[in-house]
Amino acid sequence: MKAELTEKFLGLYGQEPKANYFTPGRVNLIGEHIDYNGGLVMPCAVTLGTWLSIAPNNDQVIRFNSLNFPEQHEVALQASYTKTGPEWFNYPLGVFNEILKKHQLPTGLDLLFYGNIPIGSGLSSSASIEVIMAYALNDYFNLGYEKIEIPLLAQKVENEFIGVNCGIMDQFAVAFGEAHKALVLNCDTLKYKSVDCNLGDYSLAIINTNKPRKLAESKYNERVAECQTALAQLNEEITLHNLCELSAEKFSLHSHLITDETVLKRATHVIRENDRVGLAAKALNEGNLEEFGRLMYASHQSLKDLYEVTGAELDAVVEFCTDYEHVIGARMTGAGFGGCAIALLKKGQEEDFARQLTDFYVERIGYPAAIYISEIGNGASAI
Ligand code: ADP
Ligand code: MG
Repeated sequence: MKAELTEKFLGLYGQEPKANYFTPGRVNLIGEHIDYNGGLVMPCAVTLGTWLSIAPNNDQVIRFNSLNFPEQHEVALQASYTKTGPEWFNYPLGVFNEILKKHQLPTGLDLLFYGNIPIGSGLSSSASIEVIMAYALNDYFNLGYEKIEIPLLAQKVENEFIGVNCGIMDQFAVAFGEAHKALVLNCDTLKYKSVDCNLGDYSLAIINTNKPRKLAESKYNERVAECQTALAQLNEEITLHNLCELSAEKFSLHSHLITDETVLKRATHVIRENDRVGLAAKALNEGNLEEFGRLMYASHQSLKDLYEVTGAELDAVVEFCTDYEHVIGARMTGAGFGGCAIALLKKGQEEDFARQLTDFYVERIGYPAAIYISEIGNGASAI
């Protein structure tokens, strides 16, 4: 990839890049709709990602090119920026805006991005492009940001500059992912540890349902509000900052306070899913991938029945996986209503899996899904 990018860079800018970087996309292995309830999530970096080549220029401008998008953008080097239109270059521009609040850059920059993460499918190509830009500027100009500041800065850009109200999980995972490890992140304290996640004879299959996520945002906000209702009602008897402070046992003592049946279902998912993340970490520590797979299926079932965020497309994928003998666990990942599912697939079965799943999915849904095979990869780095 680096050689290809160098050649394109030379063609575009008439000079070779002076530095190159890679940042992955991510999947959440388990712990869904938990981040905004202050609980545990378990994301990992994938081997799909974003590449960035950079070189300084003497023109006091920043030039943005991406092999994924046709148009070039150029802005003068200045003290701050505002978002301009819906164009992709706002993601890296937002990072410049944040960094220029504290630092003056000595030169302009020529930039070339390329990504092989399917864009807009819930694998966090947005976190990947934000983190790679922040990581690259910090590294190239020696700006002295602490490691932890990079994902926080990237999240701030996504929240304030782009206007998407995401939690910290995505930026965290793409910045700090480690090959063959899952991150267990406490979304309340932001403390995290990495857990060995050796997939052995299995690969991580990522199945993009190719369903547009139109519903996702409104339903997402509805779920956040339902969890807030549950929290407020539980707080009539106990003092809680977030739902995930409750163990399943304690929850059962107080759940009668939740008056609405739907809200009770939502809260039940949250409490049990948070417990599942703990159990999943234990299974990984014991090298018990089968148990991990069972927990993935249980997570999907709960997201379908209690949280109601799956939909026909994600359910079709997981139904297929459940019946397919070489998959030991599968679930939707991300916000739901479309986007991607993940599965633990026996190595060597990739072609058969893709063929059979495609037939099943087309027949059920009417159009094909896209299948990617990944390993658990590393986070942001210079290459
Ligand atoms: P997701 O994060 O699920 O992939 P988003 O809608 O949050 O989807 O972010 C996708 C947007 O991020 C793209 O529409 C584009 O603006 C930007 N982006 C991601 N990867 C690239 C890339 N390689 N080159 C240019 N822009 C990118
Ligand atoms: Mg995104």
